[in-house]
Amino acid sequence: MTIKLYNTMTRTKEEFRPIDAEHIRMYACGPTVYNYIHIGNGRMNVVFDVLNRLLRLTYPKVTYVSNITDIDDKIMNSAKEEGISTKELSERFTEAFFADLMALGCDKPDVTPKATDYIPQQIEMIETLIANGNAYEAEGHVLFHVPSYADYGRLSRRPRDEQIAGARVEVAPYKKDAADFVLWKPSSDDQPGWDSPWGRGRPGWHLECSVMSTDILGKNFDIHGGGLDLTFPHHENEIAQSCCAHKGSHFANYWIHNGFLQANGEKMSKSLGNFFTVHELLEKYDGEVIRYVLMSAQYRQPLDFTLDQLDEAKKQLDRWYGVLDKVGITVAKPVYNETFLSALSDDLNTPAAFAELHRLFGEVNKTEGQAQQQAVAEFVSAANLIGLLTKTPSDWVRGGGDDTDALAIEALIAERAQAKKDKNFARADEIRNELAAQGIVLEDSPTGTTWKRG
Ligand code: AMP
Ligand code: ZN
Repeated sequence: MTIKLYNTMTRTKEEFRPIDAEHIRMYACGPTVYNYIHIGNGRMNVVFDVLNRLLRLTYPKVTYVSNITDIDDKIMNSAKEEGISTKELSERFTEAFFADLMALGCDKPDVTPKATDYIPQQIEMIETLIANGNAYEAEGHVLFHVPSYADYGRLSRRPRDEQIAGARVEVAPYKKDAADFVLWKPSSDDQPGWDSPWGRGRPGWHLECSVMSTDILGKNFDIHGGGLDLTFPHHENEIAQSCCAHKGSHFANYWIHNGFLQANGEKMSKSLGNFFTVHELLEKYDGEVIRYVLMSAQYRQPLDFTLDQLDEAKKQLDRWYGVLDKVGITVAKPVYNETFLSALSDDLNTPAAFAELHRLFGEVNKTEGQAQQQAVAEFVSAANLIGLLTKTPSDWVRGGGDDTDALAIEALIAERAQAKKDKNFARADEIRNELAAQGIVLEDSPTGTTWKRG
């Protein structure tokens, strides 16, 4: 199967050709852990999880790395506000992030390196960059000198005069060029810091990804990605650092960027305050419902998020699980539908993949016996591949309460059956009404009574 991916570097959809088809290597820029992740970050994780799943289906081995930024001014400020150490705060939100990932049905990346575990390697890369004439020390800082790298701007295609991140911010006087960016900065005594040849300090944000991706995946690897906001300056700076430190290397081959999840047409972000955390949405919605919405648009398109979409997705999943609960699932081995796979392989076209899922669901409803089981197998295999329908239908339909609830309900259903046998229809109706008042719907059939939460 051929996978096609849109490469930001070439601005074209290209056939994915791995460096080594026996081992695919992918790196995606993960969260800065100073709070719960919002669903915009959730989208990024789900997008790269879908890509990871597709690659795993296609190739024998994939190493997927996604970093944790655990040293950053935002982390330092939040820790200060809470009166705890940056380590304590970042560890708390790293754990919360992993819990959210799991709830969203994402496989944990194979490696999730933390920036603070790679300080010596970051110092080493800075030394190489200074030795190669690409970086210089100034007032306790070390800066990457942008004019020293002729290819700077290749990814974002920014002309020279737009290459200054945060251009309206006053340019620090110690910079040789306004576009130069920080590799190392000094820490005051009350800030976290590490000893270095340039005094006690901490690395600039862009450095960790250059160092960790190379350390784990090698100087050249297949895919590097993250949200669209990272194209400039983050990924541009990573390329500059890596290609200048490792002369002759081209770093990543495919640059994949997901579009923004938006609220009212604006990028969802912590700084704008227009966000929902995954954590808070999980109080009301199953992670699979959130995942459904996050996959509903093709990953490069903006996704305008509303709570109504979650309600719609829940209704759809209720329908799917409801039917599967009735017909039963016996999928011994996944059966992959070609239309579904070619949709996914076409630059992760999830809307087309969903269209095929809906068609397969129609088949499940239209058929019976052997043909129905075949349709169920294709439908469930396809849904599972993108992390949907992973629960047991019975749990989905009757879940939401604890086991003692279920036992009490079963006991009442048994009592109602006995009451009917005894022709005590008043008691039988009373039980039905009592359960209905708790939102439990009974369905009688010749083989007995089943229940679900209404
Ligand atoms: P951050 O914690 O802000 O560094 O973001 C972690 C990852 O989520 C990065 O790959 C970002 O590009 C991505 N991201 C941040 N905000 C959004 C958004 N609103 N929509 C999609 N991806 C986002
Ligand atoms: Zn990065």
